[in-house]
Amino acid sequence: MSDTLSSKSKKTLMCPSADAEMSGSVIFGIVAGTPEEPHVVHLDRVKAIPQELLALEAPVKPSEIFRIAATCIENGCMHFDGTNCRLTERIIDGLPAVSEQLPACAIRSKCRWWYQEGKEACFRCQQVVRDNYNATEHLFNTVDPSAYSQV
Ligand code: SF4
Repeated sequence: MSDTLSSKSKKTLMCPSADAEMSGSVIFGIVAGTPEEPHVVHLDRVKAIPQELLALEAPVKPSEIFRIAATCIENGCMHFDGTNCRLTERIIDGLPAVSEQLPACAIRSKCRWWYQEGKEACFRCQQVVRDNYNATEHLFNTVDPSAYSQV
């Protein structure tokens, strides 16, 4: 665990790969790049999710075009093992760094991935898109929660 934020209360942590419908959801990044190689551009501050976006019956989900953070639901999430977010660990083990510097990030002080893994999570964060239908097989396997039931 990073000692950077070791004194932070876990109750305040946010999941940085959330859905718009989750409690406390905010936008903190925009998905740019290409469908095959998305690259998240972090915003300098969080933005509320427009209600019209939530109400839209479009084929595109907000989490395809924005990076959304929301209150980490811990044991309500398949990635949580009772103590840690296993997704964070798998991203660090399975994905390459795509940044050599910490992206300026509006949620860092509350980010569960940062809390657990520090800068190594941030170096890989900009390639993560929650709903990415063009994900490579490797990326899909890295984040697939069904892996937990196979161990
Ligand atoms: S992992 Fe780092 S860059 Fe990504 S949301 Fe968390 S603090 Fe921000």
